[in-house]
Amino acid sequence: MTDKINIEEIFAQNVFTLDTMRKWVSEEAYNEVINVMENGGELSGKTANVVAKGMKDWAVENGATHYTHWFQPLTGFTAEKHDSFITHPDKNGKMLLEFKGKELIKGEPDASSFPSGGLRATFEARGYTTWDITSPAFIKEDATGKILCIPTAFCSYKGEALDKKTPLLRSMEIVGQQAMRIVRLFGNYEAKKVIPSVGAEQEYFLIDRENYLKREDLIYAGRTLFGAPAPKGQEMDDHYYGCIRERIGAYMKDLNVELWKLGVTAKTQHNEVAPAQHELAPIYETSNVAVDHNQIVMETLKKVAGRHGLTCLLHEKPFQGVNGSGKHNNWSLTTDTGMNLLDPGDTPNENIQFLLVLACIMKAVDTHADLLRQSASDVGNDHRLGADEAPPAIISIFLGEQLEDVVKQLVETGEATHLVEGGVLETGVSTLPDLLKDATDRNRTSPFAFTGNKFEFRMVGSADSIGDPNTILNTIVAEAFCEAADRLEGVEDFELAVHDLIKEYMTAHQRIIFNGNGYAPEWIKEAERRGLPNLPTMLDAVETLTTDKSFALFEKFNIFTRAELESRKDVLYETYSKTINIEAKCMIEMSSKQIIPAEIRYIKMLSKAVLLAEEAGVRATVQREILSKVTDELEKMQSALVKLEAELKAAQRIKEHKTCAFYYRDHVKTAMEELRAPADALEMLTDKEVWPIPTYGDLLFEV
Ligand code: ADP
Ligand code: MG
Repeated sequence: MTDKINIEEIFAQNVFTLDTMRKWVSEEAYNEVINVMENGGELSGKTANVVAKGMKDWAVENGATHYTHWFQPLTGFTAEKHDSFITHPDKNGKMLLEFKGKELIKGEPDASSFPSGGLRATFEARGYTTWDITSPAFIKEDATGKILCIPTAFCSYKGEALDKKTPLLRSMEIVGQQAMRIVRLFGNYEAKKVIPSVGAEQEYFLIDRENYLKREDLIYAGRTLFGAPAPKGQEMDDHYYGCIRERIGAYMKDLNVELWKLGVTAKTQHNEVAPAQHELAPIYETSNVAVDHNQIVMETLKKVAGRHGLTCLLHEKPFQGVNGSGKHNNWSLTTDTGMNLLDPGDTPNENIQFLLVLACIMKAVDTHADLLRQSASDVGNDHRLGADEAPPAIISIFLGEQLEDVVKQLVETGEATHLVEGGVLETGVSTLPDLLKDATDRNRTSPFAFTGNKFEFRMVGSADSIGDPNTILNTIVAEAFCEAADRLEGVEDFELAVHDLIKEYMTAHQRIIFNGNGYAPEWIKEAERRGLPNLPTMLDAVETLTTDKSFALFEKFNIFTRAELESRKDVLYETYSKTINIEAKCMIEMSSKQIIPAEIRYIKMLSKAVLLAEEAGVRATVQREILSKVTDELEKMQSALVKLEAELKAAQRIKEHKTCAFYYRDHVKTAMEELRAPADALEMLTDKEVWPIPTYGDLLFEV
């Protein structure tokens, strides 16, 4: 790689940006695309052909051989099937490359092998992918060559969404429409659109690939299922923001270049709290593009790692005892004229539009805390939420001192007449300037925190798509905006009415505000007293999708049909069972084929050592003591293994998806923990040469 990186030159080099499109298609076609992007509708067949040809010519000139409809099924990953641009050679044997409008706009992958939760019977296996014109096409470069990727939505023959993107796009339109009604109430006729923006901070671990390949749990489950703690963890706080080591630095440099080429605005990079843990944050952008880009980020993190002899772990909890990884979803709403609806300005107490927006968000989050929590759940995140490193599983809003005080004044007196000032931060050093303090401090323990001009939803798991959380956020806020607009449009005395509504909403929903320590055990009791839902695990949250409240919300705005919600629920239960099933099988395999045989060899070594020592006429007390401890733990391990095997068989026999998932959680997972304990104890007793797999020390500190 060259030393000098010219970001301006490489940025979006592999993206069919609007600028690029303008160069490769006629002005007429370009204008039609812009019109559809901005106002919806469909491209004419003629324009679709022109755009497809331009896109293909650009891609081919840049070395692409294939195209793919790139989509996001309910697996949470992306999917692609490559087709080359080749056609029948002409009669002289010459190859003419081709890509038609209908191939750009619509694809027909067989949908039968993607999770559909029963939406699609095998006899109607056909699925459709449709071009998402609002997210730019890009060229992916790897060992496969160069592939033109066209971001698409994926649905069934009957139009039911089978992916994470379709509902997201629906929710973006809805929140935009309802937010426009709010903006109009305040006399703004200039803005034509409100768009949700998202910036997703991504945490990840990097470990040595050689070590990774020696651990079946990492290979099959993405996390360690065994492992005694290393002598050192994260207690010295020396990794967070620590100096980036050479090998990791080289990786990050390479990663940034790859991402920049793909138009991803990789901006911030740093070491995270746990050893071997890091973070990458892009600059925020329109939410569906942010969702696509987060998928690209995850894929690129993994791909580039391979080139550096590293493996990237995106799992929410790869290692017990040190922090896991999350993804902070920063969210705001902006008009096409650049006004951020979440910007309080210097005097939030006088900014009535902001206060109304805030009141609506409080209402939305309080009313649908259950759905928001559900949207951030996945199997891996169960190890994080509610532990002391991640937000609790209870949803609450952090507003900061100043805004909380404004809300309090409004609730108590109906007026917010004054502001708590941030004041000056005195450094006490004459050569350092005194800084103006922000009126909002940070609260790292809050799941939903106001951070200046955006809300930061901190519950999302590192491996999860941010599609669902944003779909939910957009929809619940749209509902609150809609109700507020219904009440306020056409009233005689707007000022009085809006004032009353803000007070009403804030009073009714103030229980959702919590500025204290979300990790404190007292908070759980307090939240219960306030009537806030506490859904500690993923499975506890699944049913929130099909309550009457949920049906009413999603059907009103055409985000999900009942059938889609039922199907998603089913996919969640199945995914849960399958994931734990893999983990349990992996533990059984590692126990039976690696750990127990190694311990039997170790016992043999120790037994010989005892005999030899005694034969030589010296005491063998230490050898005996270790031998007996190892034997004790090995016995425990063997019986735990037998129990896990039995529980797994029992779970596998259960047909009904929900019952099965709960059995995995309450029986199989417990049996897995019981197997891990003696194995981890054995690791501490065993000769390093004999222990068959790399330890936490090797994995976390040998990078
Ligand atoms: P912090 O979380 O430390 O406050 P930043 O201010 O750097 O971090 O922002 C974190 C993420 O939030 C970045 O991806 C950033 O682009 C994004 N972000 C900043 N402003 C907004 C906004 N108005 N809407 C959505 N995301 C935003
Ligand atoms: Mg943050």
